[in-house]
Amino acid sequence: MPRPRLASADTSLDAQLAQAAALVAKGQAASALPTLRRLLSAARRRDAASGMRTLLLIGRAHAVLGAWNEAIAHWARALELALAEQDRDACIEGWLSLGELYLEHDDAAHGYECIELACSLAQGTPAAMRAHIDLAAALIALGDPDLARAALDVARDALVADQPGLRARLQQLYGTLAEATGDLAAARRHVESALALQVEARSTAGQAQCQLALGRLALAAGEDVPAEQALLAALRLSEQLSAPQPGRDAHLALSGLYEGRGDYVAATRHYAEYYQRQLRIAGQRRRSAVSNQRLAHIEMRLKLLTSEIELWQLREESDAGRVRMRELQEAAYRDALTGVYNRRALNERLPELLAEAENRQQSLSLLLIDFDHFKQVNDRYSHAVGDMVLRAGATLFRDERRSVDLLARYGGEEFALLLPGADLARAREAAERLRERVEHFQWSTLEPGLTVTVSVGCAELGPGDSADILFSRADLALYMAKRNGRNRVSVESGF
Ligand code: GH3
Ligand code: MG
Ligand code: MG
Repeated sequence: MPRPRLASADTSLDAQLAQAAALVAKGQAASALPTLRRLLSAARRRDAASGMRTLLLIGRAHAVLGAWNEAIAHWARALELALAEQDRDACIEGWLSLGELYLEHDDAAHGYECIELACSLAQGTPAAMRAHIDLAAALIALGDPDLARAALDVARDALVADQPGLRARLQQLYGTLAEATGDLAAARRHVESALALQVEARSTAGQAQCQLALGRLALAAGEDVPAEQALLAALRLSEQLSAPQPGRDAHLALSGLYEGRGDYVAATRHYAEYYQRQLRIAGQRRRSAVSNQRLAHIEMRLKLLTSEIELWQLREESDAGRVRMRELQEAAYRDALTGVYNRRALNERLPELLAEAENRQQSLSLLLIDFDHFKQVNDRYSHAVGDMVLRAGATLFRDERRSVDLLARYGGEEFALLLPGADLARAREAAERLRERVEHFQWSTLEPGLTVTVSVGCAELGPGDSADILFSRADLALYMAKRNGRNRVSVESGF
């Protein structure tokens, strides 16, 4: 069946542009883009205004897809045309689009410059509300809440049309301001109504931002579980988006949340995700220098992005990120109480140590160190004193250890010390030194009357032994030390 033809090419063009605009607004930019590219030459042939409108839409589609450079390039072309034609609406749209893009990429200074231009052009036009909302967002980012509130109030008074997306942003920014003054309850009310509006506006990005804000507010209120729920919701929503920014912020907040819980594995995973997106954003900012040169040629009060200071800041940011990443990775392998390696680290390092010993034909010995009658320490002096003993004990073991040795907390009050290159005789000597240091340590400085001893089981890796066998032999030796009266070293040489 042949398709019904529209009355004229012009109406067809307008209809198709409107359809593409609707797709872009719904976030389906990828399917709108081919149509928009096809329409561009027809639109330009018809008149400058249609050409500009199409260019602006193509820019928006690219921005929705997270393609920052393409977005800037198309908006710059639209602005060139708009300035030549003195088309105020297109100018406002172009500057606001650029400003919003800069804000999304944490560049409040450039964002502010673009938005301020748009604001002065938008006085008394329907675009004034959006311009003032953007201005408020930029002012908040620049640390000026009072001016931001004034801008928001102007936007609120300009609010006429039924625009849930804009009303949502207004509410959310009021929420941000309330949060900054410490009024968490008011902040939450604003963000909750913003979320409802974003649902109405069917904006995935807007909903992601609101869930993120709710998650942060719950975190600030110490409500761990609701915070996690909101942040995970933000993450799910942001996974439907191409732009990296909402996902980046959700991962960062989740990383902090899990770190607070002591779940360093989850914290590291989320930090890695955050860091990857952060690098992408930073990379886009760096690459955008080329497009910005064009902007600089058109009207600009925009400065080049690649000033020395900015590059320096970017470098600082990435360095800080790398350091933090290492810290978290380290934390995932550390025992939180004593700071020595945990069992996870031990399990990962053991195969390497065994393989090294075999390849180099070197000995490898293991000490299992267990505190004697530790339950009584807890019972008599409190669990807190028990914890102090474990920390002090770990410090003593750490001081005695050589740099090649691997010390790990193996269980509650049990530590493992792996000694590469040490045969059973050397291992026994080391164990004896440790035992004596514990026995002679002035435990009464921690708690009057406190005495502490340890028992140590030693074993040496035999030919063809697995890690399991090595550990069970050391365990057997430890059992003998306990049975023979504790505060002693026992060796197992059964291979
Ligand atoms: P033994 O000499 O036979 O080893 O006796 P024990 O009391 O040391 O051994 P047992 O295995 O019966 O008890 C170990 C105790 O260590 C029980 C547990 O409450 C305590 N413990 C385990 N982890 C921690 C910890 O992180 N902090 C404190 N304070 N106590 C812990
Ligand atoms: Mg014990
Ligand atoms: Mg034990």
